[in-house]
Amino acid sequence: MATVFSKIISGEIPCLKIAEDDSFLAFLDINPIAEGHTLVVPKTEIDYFFDIDDDLLSRMMVFSKSVAEKLKKNVECKRIGISVIGLEVPHAHIHLIPIKTVVDMNFSNPKLQISQDQLRELQLRILKD
Ligand code: AMP
Repeated sequence: MATVFSKIISGEIPCLKIAEDDSFLAFLDINPIAEGHTLVVPKTEIDYFFDIDDDLLSRMMVFSKSVAEKLKKNVECKRIGISVIGLEVPHAHIHLIPIKTVVDMNFSNPKLQISQDQLRELQLRILKD
């Protein structure tokens, strides 16, 4: 069965897209732990991150770098943290998280209280340059 991320990639489920190329899609996490929390996924459905072949994995990091630059420019933060978990969705992905302190990377933190409209505004802000 297709993962929720494959359904996003195929357009069956909507997302708030931040960037896309032939191989990858980046979109806002629906349940963010920080403002601008973004996921980068390969369009090919692979469950475990370290099963991604070397070529795709290298390109995924370069793609993520360009997304992180966009986030850093448009979201108030010190740095963009990077994390791989994959316990919820069996489709490899990178979390890019704008952070001010190490605590902001804690996935046990309460999720951000942010409406769909606010997420849309944030998407436009990130995309503006
Ligand atoms: P994990 O697999 O543990 O790395 O977590 C999966 C992440 O995907 C979580 O942060 C979820 O909030 C996020 N997520 C799940 N479904 C969606 C969706 N439809 N759109 C955006 N993010 C999602």
